[in-house]
Amino acid sequence: NRIWDNNCQTAVVEDTLFIIIIIRLPRIYREKYVVLLISMASVGIWQTVNIFSRSLVESSMVGYGVFGVLVFFFSLYYRPLRLLDRLLSNIASEMREAMFLYDPTGKCVWINEAAVGLTGLGNTQLEEVNPRLTEMFGVLEYSDEDVVFSREIVSEDGTRYYTINKRVMRYDNKKISGTVISIRDDTEEKLKMKRELYSATHDKLTGLYTREYLYECIRNKIDSNPDTTYLIVFVDVKNLKIVNDIFGTKFGDYAICSIADLLRSVTNEKCVYGKLAGDTFGVLTPRGVFHVKDIEKKLSQFIVRCGSTEHKVLIHLGIYEVDDPSIEVSVMFDRAHLALSTITDRFNAHLAFYDNKIRENVLWNQQITSELDTAIEKMQIRPYLQPIADREGRIVGAEALARRIHPQRGFMSPALFIPLFEKNGMIVDVDRHIWRCACEILSRWDNDLFISVNISPKDFYYTDVVGTIKELVSEYGIEPRRLRIEITGSVMMSDSDPRMEILDDLRSAGFIVEMDDFGSGYSSLNMLKNMPVDVLKIDMMFLSRSDDKNRAQTIVRNIIGLSEELGISTLTEGVETEEQYSALSGMGCDLFQGYYFSKPIPVEDFENSYLSARVIDER
Ligand code: C2E
Ligand code: CA
Ligand code: CA
Repeated sequence: NRIWDNNCQTAVVEDTLFIIIIIRLPRIYREKYVVLLISMASVGIWQTVNIFSRSLVESSMVGYGVFGVLVFFFSLYYRPLRLLDRLLSNIASEMREAMFLYDPTGKCVWINEAAVGLTGLGNTQLEEVNPRLTEMFGVLEYSDEDVVFSREIVSEDGTRYYTINKRVMRYDNKKISGTVISIRDDTEEKLKMKRELYSATHDKLTGLYTREYLYECIRNKIDSNPDTTYLIVFVDVKNLKIVNDIFGTKFGDYAICSIADLLRSVTNEKCVYGKLAGDTFGVLTPRGVFHVKDIEKKLSQFIVRCGSTEHKVLIHLGIYEVDDPSIEVSVMFDRAHLALSTITDRFNAHLAFYDNKIRENVLWNQQITSELDTAIEKMQIRPYLQPIADREGRIVGAEALARRIHPQRGFMSPALFIPLFEKNGMIVDVDRHIWRCACEILSRWDNDLFISVNISPKDFYYTDVVGTIKELVSEYGIEPRRLRIEITGSVMMSDSDPRMEILDDLRSAGFIVEMDDFGSGYSSLNMLKNMPVDVLKIDMMFLSRSDDKNRAQTIVRNIIGLSEELGISTLTEGVETEEQYSALSGMGCDLFQGYYFSKPIPVEDFENSYLSARVIDER
């Protein structure tokens, strides 16, 4: 009885403990304690029966043995399977990726929340899952060998991006236990990446490629089409700064966008184009796509209209035919740019092609520009003098014309460097040097011969011409009337009022002002009336170019007549023959210059030929 009492008490305490645990624990854990409770209770009952049957053998010990094993197993090894199940299925259900589980026969057996959202099908419509996926993403083929595959798919309208993974599950790497398809909607990430990429590679204003990206695309295009001949086009908007100044930056921006549209309209998918800088663009085009005539026409008619404002924007194209695809894209554009620099002189031209001549020319220009200071210092740039005669054939003066004696190239005509220096503004240095030389020469001459010097429009732009010249004559102590000033009509074209004042200043300081190249593009008879000049230089060469000799003579005669009336004396240059000389004398021309008398010659030669003779003559 005692034993039974004890056992009974223990059993009751244990059972009560198990019952409390069972009630307190989550349901998933209850099963193991229920098993223990039942086995505990069974062993208890077994022992009770045993005690009351007063059997000599305690067979319930076997029950305790079994109970011990169960306790051992459940407390150490047992994990409730359903717990794992539940946890995994919760995770799978809540995953952002849509999950589809298939049994080994390929039947869909389960889909998660995201999959429900993606397909619009519920867990009760699983047989419709496959057709729906096929409809959405095409056939997600299944192959036994293909244990895993991953694919990026863009929805048909191009608005959504998905990554699809398919995984075949096997028992012990042999028998297939099922398949999992997971589909991730990458749209947000992809769009964000695309936006970032876009802003890094596209110009904000025009939406065109940025320079770096353009270079990259051009490189790829050229490399992937080695058999195509391409042109690199450098597009330069010439007067954009003025447009911005006059019409405001808003209109300027609008103009830039219109030019971007123009580029879109003259190119096709075989071309690549983008923005190089504020007002320059770049294009790569197969040679056949680029029709020079069409483009030139479009450019010459290009007008930007914005509301009531409209403006003709000047666009120039420099073109380089890619004859060597291996050179860097930036160098290709440099070449196209070089071609561009040859357009500026030609008024109606809008495009120019790069060739080796341009290359050499540009290199040469760079060289002589960089050498200018030394050339002036070493007198490699120096004046030649071309004599000027009066009606009796006496030499009364000379024009100083710049020459360059290059250490390697030798004698250089001004046509090879004056236009370049006019363009880059360095003519200012050349002219000041020639003026100084002229003054120095005059200061050595003991007579009243004059020297006329040329003044380029850029001199007026950049320097105080009157001040400089006044200083020079006083420094060398020469009479101002012996240094004649030649200016061209183009100087008077812009800003004429202040320029007129300059001429007045010069004249009142005692200088004789000559109007050069009268008869060429800029000058006109009309201008003559208000021009404060002393001498008109008529260019015979302009006139003799015309077919009708009589007509030319009539024009010259009238110019001379008109000048006489206005109290302006005349000088005809380009006189090459005796016949011209006597005809012009007959018409009343005062002074003559030309090959008939002499070419421009070195100062020393001039002095030897004319000076001593005349000085002796005079005295
Ligand atoms: P320009 O001032 O009209 O100079 C007259 C040009 O006509 C000179 O050419 C002269 O050599 C050339 N010439 C003179 N007589 C005849 C002739 O009978 N027949 C022909 N066919 N040509 C004749 P050059 O020396 O080559 O100068 C060309 C131009 O370069 C000048 O035209 C002038 O505009 C400019 N230039 C020359 N030296 C200077 C300078 O020191 N400063 C500036 N700013 N320009 C200069
Ligand atoms: Ca001249
Ligand atoms: Ca001239």
